[in-house]
Amino acid sequence: MPIVKLRTTKFFSRTSFRKFPDKPKADIVEIYRRLVGGEIKISYRAILVKCCFHEEKTPSLALYRDTQSFYCFGCGKSGDIYSFVQGIKHCDFKEALKIIREL
Ligand SMILES: [Zn+2]
Repeated sequence: MPIVKLRTTKFFSRTSFRKFPDKPKADIVEIYRRLVGGEIKISYRAILVKCCFHEEKTPSLALYRDTQSFYCFGCGKSGDIYSFVQGIKHCDFKEALKIIREL
């Protein structure tokens, strides 16, 4: 199953949608699996993984599939799939789009 779809949802802000009408859509869990890797714990609502923004032994980074967003209970980082990739790869928004397209 391809993880990158061209469909956009209301989750994306209007400005960035206008600027990047073909913004790729991807599953945040799949992004984590491919860019970070490691154990993925699936619970009732969130998917808990080890945070890729701070050092930790127990997973406290929640990945939310319904909104394709993330929140870390340890360091407080949060955002959407684009800021997620930007944070992992230390790149800008355009570069993040490219990475998601090429996943
Ligand atoms: Zn964290």
